[in-house]
Amino acid sequence: MKKGMKNILVVLLIGLISVPATAMISNPLTSQNFSTPSTTQQSNSWLQETQVFDMLALPPNRLKTFHVTVNGLWNGFFVEGENLSGPFEFGKYLESFYSGNVYESDAAFVQAQHQQGLLVPGTILTTQGHPALQGDLIEDFACRSADGQMATWDLNAGSYFMCAQNPDIIDWMIGQGKKAIDAGADMITLDEIEGNGLVGILQYVSTFIESNEPGFCPNCLEGFRAYLGDHFTSSELSTLFDISDLSTYEFLPRIAATMNLSYFQRIQTDPLMKEYFTFQEEGTFDAKKRLITELRTYSTSQGKNIIISANSFALGTSQTGDYLIQGLQYSSLLDFFSFENKYTALSDQSFPSLPRSKWVAWEKLARAATNAPGVILVDSAAMGKLWQQPFSVKKIRNYLAVHCAEAYANQGAFVNWFIKPFDQTYRWGGCAKIYDFVLRNRQLYDASSSIDTSTAVVYFFGKGMQNNTGNYLGLCQILAESNIPYDVIFDGDGQYLNTTLTLQNLSKYHMILVPSVVDITTQQKTLVKEFVASGGTAVVFDPEELGFPANEGPYNYGNGTFYFMLQDIPALYYQTYTDSYRTSFLDAIDSSIEEHLKIKNSNRKIVGYPYYQPGEKRHILHLINYDCGALFDIIWPKSNIQIQMKLLLPSVSSVTVISPDFSEKQNIPFTITDGLIEFIVPTLRLYDVVVIQE
Ligand SMILES: [Zn+2]
Repeated sequence: MKKGMKNILVVLLIGLISVPATAMISNPLTSQNFSTPSTTQQSNSWLQETQVFDMLALPPNRLKTFHVTVNGLWNGFFVEGENLSGPFEFGKYLESFYSGNVYESDAAFVQAQHQQGLLVPGTILTTQGHPALQGDLIEDFACRSADGQMATWDLNAGSYFMCAQNPDIIDWMIGQGKKAIDAGADMITLDEIEGNGLVGILQYVSTFIESNEPGFCPNCLEGFRAYLGDHFTSSELSTLFDISDLSTYEFLPRIAATMNLSYFQRIQTDPLMKEYFTFQEEGTFDAKKRLITELRTYSTSQGKNIIISANSFALGTSQTGDYLIQGLQYSSLLDFFSFENKYTALSDQSFPSLPRSKWVAWEKLARAATNAPGVILVDSAAMGKLWQQPFSVKKIRNYLAVHCAEAYANQGAFVNWFIKPFDQTYRWGGCAKIYDFVLRNRQLYDASSSIDTSTAVVYFFGKGMQNNTGNYLGLCQILAESNIPYDVIFDGDGQYLNTTLTLQNLSKYHMILVPSVVDITTQQKTLVKEFVASGGTAVVFDPEELGFPANEGPYNYGNGTFYFMLQDIPALYYQTYTDSYRTSFLDAIDSSIEEHLKIKNSNRKIVGYPYYQPGEKRHILHLINYDCGALFDIIWPKSNIQIQMKLLLPSVSSVTVISPDFSEKQNIPFTITDGLIEFIVPTLRLYDVVVIQE
């Protein structure tokens, strides 16, 4: 190892690989939750254009290799042993190390990147703390365990859990953000935005693994006392929670007593715990809202417009012990999500096999929630494991490239995780080809393209989704693998996020699928009924929630039809990948599916993602081949793929296939019958794009 390498390795192990303990326990029975609406504040148009993000700032030669345009989503960190910390410190350190450049300040670093035409993020860690980052203040900022220890984030890494109920740590974060803005950052990433929303799950996990759980510092305990005083009268406190004197009540032993229970057991055993979790969740939300609001205000005062993203692990769809991981309630505060992802049904596998491990559900959800690209990356625990293997052992070049193509085909982006000490040039080589391709063909990825479909999955964000995340994930997977194009529509919960969805918004759809209507707002329930009454079709899994009898099958209502499905077939499909669940789901709603796309013998391995660009007078069809072997990472190419698509254009002059897999454009023959166009795509290795031009 060169001098310095060891340092970097140490930093990586400390920082990037440290993941919430939630990822350490896999629970096959857990389900998950979901997303939010699209009220984003973007005026920097770069976000709506195709970009290539990397995790840590790379030197010029590597930037070229991977076609990076946004240099270092996770630039900010600390460098162990070097006494450096700040919003750019880690990226700057690595970039300097490999390029030999010396930067006298953050501003100089940012300026040097700007001169290369790059966009530069700064990063703020909002839950994880470390002595190298906060210095002596860490004692004040860290939450405490029941026995008074500093709460840990990652015991081995020496990092601690920063208490979001403590206004001082939020002020510290605001200071970090101002530093980033002053230095000229184009955007800020907030890592682990969930904060004290993770308290319940970390308390639960601490009963299985060695860690000091958070939730017991004076800010938490006294904050909870104040919360109860604000929300309940003393007689309510006595009747509901057996608290006779709020001012002297000892909360610590009571909260600690049930930590070993899963979420539902815990709130059933002690109803006070539900209030405690709500207090933690709301307090964190208010704190992070203050952070984001103050950074935006400061940025504006400096004549700048800062873009803010956040990491929320798998968009909150991963659960342990039924505890809801948070994240999507921040959608309206953020410009976009840049998030670690995982196919959560197989959470114990670092790289679950294709074709099963599709990420379309998360990519569409992130976009629906923010109206901006879902910028998605392989979770840090999986990458950490990979780095520990010699470069030739785990072959994932094509595996990564499939996910990369899929992200761009779903109007998102796939983050490059190349890190030189681990010599991953080969592993990221497939993605490099795709990055080059998407940048050379940016106009094909125009964010204003619409999906030509009459089908939508309507995601109502709210507590009801806690038991039904698998339902949403399974639905998305069924539709994608059946080549039924669909939109995901996101609406809030009326608390963290506004409810803005109207009948007008749904007017283009013939069929909506609603993953959970449990605990949605009265207005949302009315909306679903009105949609059907006015002639639409809705697939609903909990008819009683809408006031209907719990009967399986079609149910006529007004001018339309409900399909009530009492068994959660999509969740079963997501959890098992047994194809009979997919086909039985399709059989149940068969008569209501309007065919927009047919791909012969797609066999869950070929998925088409079609778009319509009326301004350019063309259809775009992204074709992805998910047939990638788990053992040797071999892509099994397809040939002569028969495709039929519904046509919105009055006529067609050409059908062209382009691809990162070959250099020549292919003009292919086509026929048009009754508004349907048919053609045969000669070859599909990993990723083709078909352009149907008027
Ligand atoms: Zn605390």
